[in-house]
Parts: sequence; C-alpha cells; structure tokens
Amino acid sequence: MHGNKYSIYVHIPFCKARCGYCAFCSCTDYSLADRYFDKLFAEIEHFSDKTKPIYTVYIGGGTPSTVGTKRLDALFGKLRECFDLSVAEEITVECNPESADLPLLQCLARNGVDRVSFGLQSVNNDTLRRIGRLHTFEDFLNAFDLARNVGIKNVNADLILGLPETKEDFFHSVTCLARLPVSHVSVYALELHEGTPLFAQFADKPPFTDDEQADMYDKAVQLLAEMGLERYEISNFAKRGYECKHNLNYWQEGRYFAFGASASGFVENERFTQPQSVQGYLDASLCRLHETTESISLAEEANEFVMLGLRLAEGISLSEFSARYNADFWTFFSSARRLAEQGFLTVTGDRVAVPGDKFYVVDSVLAELWHSNE
Ligand code: SF4
Repeated sequence: MHGNKYSIYVHIPFCKARCGYCAFCSCTDYSLADRYFDKLFAEIEHFSDKTKPIYTVYIGGGTPSTVGTKRLDALFGKLRECFDLSVAEEITVECNPESADLPLLQCLARNGVDRVSFGLQSVNNDTLRRIGRLHTFEDFLNAFDLARNVGIKNVNADLILGLPETKEDFFHSVTCLARLPVSHVSVYALELHEGTPLFAQFADKPPFTDDEQADMYDKAVQLLAEMGLERYEISNFAKRGYECKHNLNYWQEGRYFAFGASASGFVENERFTQPQSVQGYLDASLCRLHETTESISLAEEANEFVMLGLRLAEGISLSEFSARYNADFWTFFSSARRLAEQGFLTVTGDRVAVPGDKFYVVDSVLAELWHSNE
C-alpha cells in the first residue's frame, strides 16, 4: 500500500557559471542543450503515463530560467502530451534572479506555472560576488516584481546559512527577505563539498563553528516566525497555506516520476536514479534510463515514512503509520519510548513530532530511531 499522489521532477542542468559551492549536476556548456532536450523529450515520451493524475510538477536545476522560452514552452507541451496535468495543484520552476526577465516569466505564466523558486542565497552583493553568483539583490527585487506582475504570487527564495560573511549580514538577509511579500523561504546550511572553490578556501576553517551555526539557525527561525513565515520542515518556512506541496509529497512518502540527468524517481514501489552527469545521461540508451532501480519493501518504506515525516514540524500520524504498514510505531522503533521520555519526541493526539527546540538535532534523533529498527 502507498500514498497515491504522483509528482513529476524534471532536471535542467544548465547554468551560466558554476557557483563556488556547487555540488549539483550542472553544466555550463550550452552547446549540449539541444541534444539534452531531445533526449529529455524522448525520455518523457518513453515513460509517459496518463493513468496517474499528476499532483505537482517541479522543474529544477541547474538554472531552468536560462534555457530560453522556446525550450520551456516545448517542455510543458511534452509533459501535457504525456501526462495528465489537468488537476495539478502546484507547478514550480526554479529561476535565478538575473535570468528571470519579463518574456521568461510570461512564458512560465502561460504554461500554468504558479510558483517560482529563486536562488537568492544572500541579499548582500559582496557576499553574492564572493560565492560566484551572477545576480545582485536588485536583480532579485526586479524579478520578484515581474513574477507578481504576471500573476505568479507564490514565490520562494533560498538563503544559505554559513556563507563567508558576518552573522549580521546573514540576519540582514533574513529580515530583508521576510519583509517582502514572499510566501516561502528556504534556509540551507552551507555544505563544503570537495572539489569546489569554497571547499579549497574554507575546509580547514569554515566561516562559523557548528555551535555558531546552530545559534544563527535558531535566530533565523525566530525572525522568520515574527514575519509570519512558520517553519514546517527543518529548512523550510512558509506563510500559512503556502507550504511547498511538491516537497511535502516527497516527505510524506508520495510517488514521483523523474526526468533528466541525476534525477531520482519513485514509481509504484521502485526507486530509480538517473546517470549523475550530463554526458552520462546523453550517452545512456533510453531503455537503460530508470534502470538503476531498487525495490522498496513495506518495512523499508515504513522506515522512510518516519525518517522523512519527522523532518516536518507536524511530524507523523500514528494511525496513518499503522494503517499503511500494519505496524505499531512504538514497537517498530524500540528506542522511540526512551526518546519520548527524554523529550526528543512529543506526542500530541495522534501525532508524533520532534519538538521545535530539538529540531537542530533532528538528524541524531532519526539516527537513533533508525538503528533501533535494525
Ligand atoms: S545555480 Fe545552482 S546548480 Fe547552477 S552552479 Fe549555481 S548552485 Fe550549481
């Protein structure tokens, strides 16, 4: 048995430049774009399925806003031809501020996009330059206005915590952003990945210690809450009713088709991952895509349901857990009672959750639960 909501994720890996911290599947060689889109459209056709109404669509990257309106029009045409998007409740496209101009945003609006997610990262132009971003805060403000003018009112902006800047710079970003009519903010901690320019600069001495980052995170949670942006997942904050439906479907163990290099999907009870590089994706034959699959047993899915669900502020429903997996939560995880006694889990009616003041250690709580089910 499983949740029957289906989403679609499409990965567009092209970026005008590599950011100093980037470890995503991204590529600056736009001469590959025509071949990439041909392959993507062939893949979407090959795995088309009109029997499952699509709940949400998310076009991520990379920088989807840099591939041109013609390709984006064609992509939405192909998705509608191959899937049933008639009842989709949310269609998101990731944009970088400098490339989200009026023609681009008009193209998104006419294709039914009702949510854009901007990679803002910081409002401080010096910081943005230092980490290799191509936009300024003013570019973001401009793109944000254009999005609203074409009717896309549901806007997310990403921020990064722990960049090489002062704590005050970070809090300035949080408050500036929260004062705007954004509906959603994501705050991700900087990860230093080997091979990236920021790793070379900061691996030995990161801009902040773990304790400092924890304090900065707590203060950001408080500042955002004061402006009506409530935390609903460890890194995600939204005005009421604007929680990202697409990501919630991942965290609530929903299902998703996935297309493009490095994308991961979960269809029926099979998880699959695509080739991680653009070249690997272009070289793979169509019938080999979606091939690296892993069948997920009911017990594994029960584990995942809890690992993902407890990252949400609302936690998980005990009755849903028993109904889906025919198991009792407290027996399934032998450490759960002790964690509840120690205050790392709270029970409110039918729901179990990690309390707000313990959210920063959610990974350790999940690890303890996970090991107690082995
Ligand atoms: S825009 Fe995103 S995907 Fe592209 S290089 Fe920067 S961090 Fe990587």
